[in-house]
Amino acid sequence: MQSAPTPPSAPSRRALLTGLGLAAAAPLALGVTARPAPLGHPDQPVQAGRTVLLRGASLVLTMDPSVGSGPLGAIENADVLMQNGTISAVGTALQAPRGAWVVDASGKLAMPGFVDTHTHLWQAVIRGGCTDRDLFGWFQGCTDPQRGRLTPAALHSFVRLAALDAVQSGVTTLVDWVDIFSYDLIESYVRALAGTGVRFAYAMFPPKPDAVLVTKVKKELVDPVPLGSFQVATHAARAVQDLNRAHWEAAQDMGVMLNSHVLERPEQRADDPIGVLTDIGALGPRLLINHAIHLTDAEIAAVAEHDVRAAHCPLSNMRLGSGIMRMSEFGRRGVKVGLGLDGGTNDSSDFHALMKTAIGLQRARTTDAGVFPQVHDVLRMATLGGAEALGIADRVGSLPPGKRADLVVIDPAALNFAPRFDWVGQIVFNGRPENVDAVFVDGRALKLGGRLVEVDTDRVVREAEAAATHLRATA
Ligand SMILES: [Zn+2]
Repeated sequence: MQSAPTPPSAPSRRALLTGLGLAAAAPLALGVTARPAPLGHPDQPVQAGRTVLLRGASLVLTMDPSVGSGPLGAIENADVLMQNGTISAVGTALQAPRGAWVVDASGKLAMPGFVDTHTHLWQAVIRGGCTDRDLFGWFQGCTDPQRGRLTPAALHSFVRLAALDAVQSGVTTLVDWVDIFSYDLIESYVRALAGTGVRFAYAMFPPKPDAVLVTKVKKELVDPVPLGSFQVATHAARAVQDLNRAHWEAAQDMGVMLNSHVLERPEQRADDPIGVLTDIGALGPRLLINHAIHLTDAEIAAVAEHDVRAAHCPLSNMRLGSGIMRMSEFGRRGVKVGLGLDGGTNDSSDFHALMKTAIGLQRARTTDAGVFPQVHDVLRMATLGGAEALGIADRVGSLPPGKRADLVVIDPAALNFAPRFDWVGQIVFNGRPENVDAVFVDGRALKLGGRLVEVDTDRVVREAEAAATHLRATA
């Protein structure tokens, strides 16, 4: 019998406050192929403070047409300078500031990190489960039984595992819609997120209109994490309209987004979620709707008119047989739409697969290879579009000087990717997480040389495995 997972060590208040992102240290002189020691290695210097020059990338997609050429703002043979977590320059033959950490990116591609607008990381515990079920069967057979038996230590191990998987796939920002209720579980969840160094929004689903708990979680757990932000989560439905209104009022009081699942299944039309969100006055740019598959034309028009934001989750929708979001209608009306992995329902953090599926499902639906979204549309949706949907495009999602330094480096010299024909198309149609060579969040390297930095991956996997074994044994 395997032992229970090692409980995560309690962080100091300062550790939680710094969120692993702000400690100062001397700059390093490492190549991108450096092999960092695991976390806790006595010789491992702490990187931060940080002036980093990404040198000589063969292609940089800035996603900003005013910085580079074409709709994706492309620059060939370019450098990216990051200082104090910010992009300070992008261009050719930049001077390395004194003491800068120079990372050789020759032969590689750089672009903004992926923005995952909708996930549920804890559901890593049910990967590969209930594969022949639809949404409701999946709730009944997999989600609900596991959720009630989670302990803080087990939850920590699953969230850490899934968050690191997202990071290694190139995700630099994620929004986690979390339906975990008790304070100790929430504390463990936020600590796991903060410990990975990813930029995140914690969308809390309060089981009742408990403004005290919501405020406490935001102020005590999420606000102190420099890369953390807060949202209020809900399930819009007539039967719980009063709860939805309380959630919307709480979101307004705190100045954060309301985040709701909407019409994932055709049966949910009976819940009239768009009608409910309209009646409580939530339609607007502070509302994020997830899935948004089975909307009428009039509902899509209302969403567009009020600048409501949407998260499209094609891998999950395909897996659960939920339907296909009508992307061309959303695109034609200019709705700000991001992409979402949707946690355990697609069993993967593969953003390349997500982009490819976002294109492929629309083509299969319409039998039209020219339908929206095309490659450049989906690359923008995966980065800047997601940031726009979340209202954070002033900070992340593209690479002009002044934005936070969230970017990925992709190595095309791989069996699945080479040779060069059209690198932009190859990112979407050939890319895989293992081609993601480096990941920077807020100027800090979380992945380098194809490996996560300062992470003992074997231990992360071992502890999640032990926690899952323990949960199965107690079922
Ligand atoms: Zn979801």
